[in-house]
Amino acid sequence: MSNNNNYDISDSTDCETYINQFIQEFTIRSAEIGKGTIIKRALPSRQKRLVGAWCFLDHAGPVSFPAGDGLDVGPHPHIGLQTFTWMIEGTMMHTDSLGSKQLIRPKQVNLMTAGRGISHTEVAPDIETKMHAAQLWIALPDDKRNMEPKFEHYPKLPVVIKDQVEFTILVGDFLDMVSPVQVHTPLVGVDLTAQANTKTRIPLNPNFEYAFMALEGIAQVNGHELNADNMVVLETGLTEIEVELTEGHRVLLIGGDRLNHQFCCGGILLGVRCKICNKHEKIGSIMMPVLVKFLIIKGSVSKHLYCLSK
Ligand code: MN
Repeated sequence: MSNNNNYDISDSTDCETYINQFIQEFTIRSAEIGKGTIIKRALPSRQKRLVGAWCFLDHAGPVSFPAGDGLDVGPHPHIGLQTFTWMIEGTMMHTDSLGSKQLIRPKQVNLMTAGRGISHTEVAPDIETKMHAAQLWIALPDDKRNMEPKFEHYPKLPVVIKDQVEFTILVGDFLDMVSPVQVHTPLVGVDLTAQANTKTRIPLNPNFEYAFMALEGIAQVNGHELNADNMVVLETGLTEIEVELTEGHRVLLIGGDRLNHQFCCGGILLGVRCKICNKHEKIGSIMMPVLVKFLIIKGSVSKHLYCLSK
């Protein structure tokens, strides 16, 4: 038998079975925020706590409501992370203990870096009748966890159109475009909206893990159906993936370097009781006494700082 190496060896990465080993589907759950606003919560879940440093992912809407009945999330604190809001439809007013006051409109991003502590509110204007948004949290690395808090508003994000898909680069770099949004670990976030029934191959960073969430309609991710009730997660090691979309449908892609140690979000979210109404709220923190002292010194602590339901 001759030892002939001059034949084509098929690349195992071409094989569907190989690619599908990297893909998992997880069911996502519903949760209630504010007064009666139902959202889909993809992260954290029992099966998946983090995608890179993305540690929380809520999808709210699309929903219509009578003027005056919009989301009204009163003052509540965050530490050790960044909150990231991607507005798709409707408007929301952000205020915080730094004195920021910013209306967010569709196609805009609000990024609040909580660092060593901040308190904020998110309230729909009285005239608002629609809401569709994604809110994510980003865990800060150890050396940035206690950084000075800050708030940034990004009115315009880079957009690339390829294969009749509008890609909005929310975080990181993608298709040679770079988002201006300031994060502190290698991350990517992209909104994909189909302008027609289309199929596209998306380049991936093999060092990143990724997740897809449907924001409008459904999609096929390498043949796996992505819908309102699931999340499709890609393990590290892939260099591209095929996504099939129907006209008008929209998906969110997030990804990042897998974190190699227990990151903050699980540690931060310990339950506390509201000191005013004694109701249990899962917005507490092991750092809460420090945070509250800081906010009192700043003169920004609200009577119901602890409690989202007031
Ligand atoms: Mn918040």
